[in-house]
Amino acid sequence: MIDTNYNFTFLERFLKYVKVDTQSDEESTTFPSDPKQLDLSRILVEELKELGINNAELDEHGYVMATLPSNTEKDVTPIAFIAHVDTSPAVTGKNVNPIIHKNYQGGDIVLPNDKSKVIVYDENPELKDMIGFDIITTDGTTLLGADDKAGVAEIMDALNYFIKNPDVKHGDIKICFTPDEEVGRGTEKFDVKKLGAKYAYTIDGGTRGEIETETFSADAVEIKITGKNVHPGYAKDKMVNAVKVASHFIDLLPKDKFSPETTEGREGYFHCTSVNGNESEMICKFIIRDFIDEKLKELETTLKEFLDKAVADYPGSSAEFKVIEQYRNMVYVLKDHPMVEEYALEALKRLDIKPLQTAIRGGTDGSRLSYMGLPTPNLFAGGHNFHAYTEYVAIQDMEMAVRAIVEIAKIWEERA
Ligand SMILES: [Zn+2]
Repeated sequence: MIDTNYNFTFLERFLKYVKVDTQSDEESTTFPSDPKQLDLSRILVEELKELGINNAELDEHGYVMATLPSNTEKDVTPIAFIAHVDTSPAVTGKNVNPIIHKNYQGGDIVLPNDKSKVIVYDENPELKDMIGFDIITTDGTTLLGADDKAGVAEIMDALNYFIKNPDVKHGDIKICFTPDEEVGRGTEKFDVKKLGAKYAYTIDGGTRGEIETETFSADAVEIKITGKNVHPGYAKDKMVNAVKVASHFIDLLPKDKFSPETTEGREGYFHCTSVNGNESEMICKFIIRDFIDEKLKELETTLKEFLDKAVADYPGSSAEFKVIEQYRNMVYVLKDHPMVEEYALEALKRLDIKPLQTAIRGGTDGSRLSYMGLPTPNLFAGGHNFHAYTEYVAIQDMEMAVRAIVEIAKIWEERA
């Protein structure tokens, strides 16, 4: 356990990192999506070098990688801790002015520079466990960026802890700070081999105690509906309007099931994200989500049946149905490596933290990394209300995340 004499450094780091604008860009086709993310990556490399980790480097794609070398005789499996430097495109991350509300005593938190932005006590059940905590918020005009700069700061502090306490044994600890997680491209140029870890943990979750080992499995479906276009003046008994076929198809979809707005928990869905085109050709895009791969396929079959019905109702029209694999539930990988989760649970137990194990209705970088050969569950970083002006994080929860990272690294050494 980290002793009480250790001077934690995560707070000053975090307050520094959130002031660097690292918003990623959904529209961009370059990598990283916006080079301003590298402003923080460069600072991190410098700080790693100041810590004495001279192998720290920023690669040409914007990934920071470094290794804290093993200090034990044992042959310890190298593990990695990963966080992302970018912030959500949803809310500006420019000129972030973090505010620390010391010794929180309950009630709503009004953000001072835009009083219409309020962290409402009744809507944030975690707040009741934060009485006496020091809570960091924005001033109401920006994002905070605790997602995921809290994770970045916590990993940096854990490294600092090991360096300041060389008698605490650990194996090779690899770290990676990625760009573009928020635009779904965080693993696009991720060099798993170069990182050199066997297992990893993303520090990108919310509430204290979160360990996420299950994500959705995800496909996209692209449907092309082709009609029969004829000059409208001479179209009688000839024209088949693709716009009408597409509308009919969308209208056939159930209103009470199979969609994001009608499902929760472990239920899957298909979700139409766009319809575009004209009378000769329409493109309908869908995303398909479920926790079980077979059910994902069933949803696709069901969707196709509605499409076939729509096309049959408009003789002369035709359709193509293309499935594009996106990512898979990481649990299928992690179940073959149970110690990855087990050691994290053991770390929480030692810290007297209640584990929160939920299945994420979404993906993480870990879902892709797990299938790229690096099994990677997601752990809490402490933040709340991600992607919103009302984002907040408690200093005490960040400290717990640092302790959890340290403890996990120690356990991998002990069990080697
Ligand atoms: Zn995140």
